Amino acid sequence: MNPAIGTIDCDVHNAVAEISELFPYLPERWADYCVEHGVTGLAPASYPSKIALSATPESRVDGRPAASDPEVVRSQVLDAGSEGADLAILNCLYAVQPIRNEDWAVAMASALNDWQARRWLAADPRFRASIVVAPQNPQRAATEIERLAGHPGFVQVLLLAGSQAPLGTRAHWPIYAAAAAAGLPVGIHPGVAGGNPPLPVGWPSTYIEEYAGATLAMQSQLTSLVCEGVFGRFPELTVVLLESGVTWLPSLMWRLDKNWKGLRREIPWVTDRPATVIRRHVRLSTAPFDGPHDADAARAFLPRFLDQVGSVDMLLYASDHPHWHHRGPEQALLAFLSADERRKVLRENALATYPTILQGAAA
Ligand code: ZN
Repeated sequence: MNPAIGTIDCDVHNAVAEISELFPYLPERWADYCVEHGVTGLAPASYPSKIALSATPESRVDGRPAASDPEVVRSQVLDAGSEGADLAILNCLYAVQPIRNEDWAVAMASALNDWQARRWLAADPRFRASIVVAPQNPQRAATEIERLAGHPGFVQVLLLAGSQAPLGTRAHWPIYAAAAAAGLPVGIHPGVAGGNPPLPVGWPSTYIEEYAGATLAMQSQLTSLVCEGVFGRFPELTVVLLESGVTWLPSLMWRLDKNWKGLRREIPWVTDRPATVIRRHVRLSTAPFDGPHDADAARAFLPRFLDQVGSVDMLLYASDHPHWHHRGPEQALLAFLSADERRKVLRENALATYPTILQGAAA
């Protein structure tokens, strides 16, 4: 990758090595609670630590959780030579979202954000981060967004696709109102947050079913956001769909447009074709890229795909570090784009999506 182009990596995961790292940022009550109840960590069950997909071999350093050391992430993501990025957006997947106790969840999310600011954003001015919120109470999630709005290191609000209820429903709107007011996009990442199964038909037996099916929850969330009218109510809002592939989008756009023609009286607030709404408000990260990786097939596929979604502007480069999909996960996509398209995917689309990203990080 040509460093002269400039690269923004829109999906990098930073991990908490020990829950005690959060104690300085937690009210004493909750730090004591963790100790007294033997809570040793909230590593996400969505990414089992020993499973190969969860971390590249080189990210597993000295037995510590992958991506738990800013120095290691810096060297492997930012200072990685021709493969390195100039800026990286950290999406921390510490599992505060499934906590049933709302007060504890809110305290943990705030502590996680303060920890991100001190341990990560202060470690390198090229790190950016997403605000982790506890969606158990959207109004309190909005308060957390407002608390950190204006902090130059936080460039996005992070939600998980496995939510308690579809994310477009009105109960979630305080989150979108706060994000829109702060000028921040909302990123949605695979992960279980609300006790619902990861698949629409119920709980799978195996991890491969859960992970391969991550796109199904994402499609449901996108359908909900469009049809509930989130983008009509918050016209300045952008939603970024992370780590869920991209090639499923044209067929969903077609189904929504086709059915909107006959059923739009049911959703009178959606005044434009759903595909138009999606092109205007939705962006997708490129890792893992789920199109053909064979050169001839990719050359034939990509122009058609871009024609169907309508714009290369919707795609944001991501490595998804430290998750291990394949080597050079972006190559099949980037290698067959024009120079202008490649520059958009690597940098310009992210600059448009994250309007504050060049303001820089601060502790
Ligand atoms: Zn990811």
